[in-house]
Amino acid sequence: MKAWEANIRRVVPYVPGDQPKGDRLIKLNTNENPYPPAPGVQRALQEMKAETFRKYPDPTSSDLVHALAERYGVGEDQVFVGVGSDDVIAMSFLTFFLSEKPILFPDISYSFYKVWADLFRIPYETPALDADFHIRTEDYMRPNGGVIFPNPNAPTGLLLPLDEVEEIIRRNQDGIVIVDEAYIDFAGASPAETSALELVKKYENLLVVQTFSKSRSMAGIRIGYAVGSPILIRALNDVKYSFNSYTMNIPSQILGVEAVKDEAYFRETVSKIVETREWAKGELWKLGFSFPDSRANFIFASHRRVPAEQLYEALRQEQIYVRYFKQPGLDNHLRITIGTREEMETLFAFLKGYLG
Ligand SMILES: *Cc1c(COP(=O)(O)O)cnc(C)c1O
Repeated sequence: MKAWEANIRRVVPYVPGDQPKGDRLIKLNTNENPYPPAPGVQRALQEMKAETFRKYPDPTSSDLVHALAERYGVGEDQVFVGVGSDDVIAMSFLTFFLSEKPILFPDISYSFYKVWADLFRIPYETPALDADFHIRTEDYMRPNGGVIFPNPNAPTGLLLPLDEVEEIIRRNQDGIVIVDEAYIDFAGASPAETSALELVKKYENLLVVQTFSKSRSMAGIRIGYAVGSPILIRALNDVKYSFNSYTMNIPSQILGVEAVKDEAYFRETVSKIVETREWAKGELWKLGFSFPDSRANFIFASHRRVPAEQLYEALRQEQIYVRYFKQPGLDNHLRITIGTREEMETLFAFLKGYLG
């Protein structure tokens, strides 16, 4: 080993789902939205002039921050935007998890948390879910350097009821609690009953993170945001400006505003996915699968007879991509993204033949 190699930061990176190329394939492996972004996004894209790219973008993304503040009924000083919620959460780890005590997140959860904790050398502990994949709130009532969990959780799809989320926040007021709501828009009839956004008024140490990647059909444009108290948002911005002032490019800022404006389209596509999900649960059940009761845009399913890895391979042969995690505790499940009704019908037709 060369001496300089000791100076290299070694990390085990997060592994995203495959992005296979081709038109005929059915892609149910990365929780993308099967519907296009709002029509206004397409229109704004057509009106865009390359000439505007000559200049740097607005470093504060003020139009997008304004649109989000208005949409969620909070102050502009309570919104932080980033290049996908991955960027927002990475910045949050860097900004808020400075304690020497371990941060806490569930052992089965978004696997990026562990990667960021390792990257930033943040100590962490990962309380186990119970046998039915539920978060045990009592595990988060011990001394810690901060808490983060997705709600609904990934890859289980299970929603922690809002009163239990609040209990975790209430009992952790000496640290910062981050609720990663990447899938919250799929969780129920009224966000007021499921989202921790309302609690931001009550708890200065709460940060709620959401994304345009799933419910707003814009994974490719990379927009995420956090809502929290002005103290938290200011701290996040200070760290961001110490890293890179111009993280969000001009097209993202413009197209993001267009997406937020079209509330009707957002509601329509989200409710189509929820409907398809509920129908898909019945179909999976009939085929011999069991699964936690998902409130997200995917189902984490296990077959009573056929191993998940075998199903994953068989589906891939058919150009149907689902997500398979070759990890203890997860390796007999498939995470199946909810596609269009037609895509799901193709999936079930194949499974019927294969399992039947
Ligand atoms: C998809 C996802 C994210 C990241 O999404 P971005 O595309 O970076 O906005 C964050 N957390 C969870 C739990 C996710 O599933």
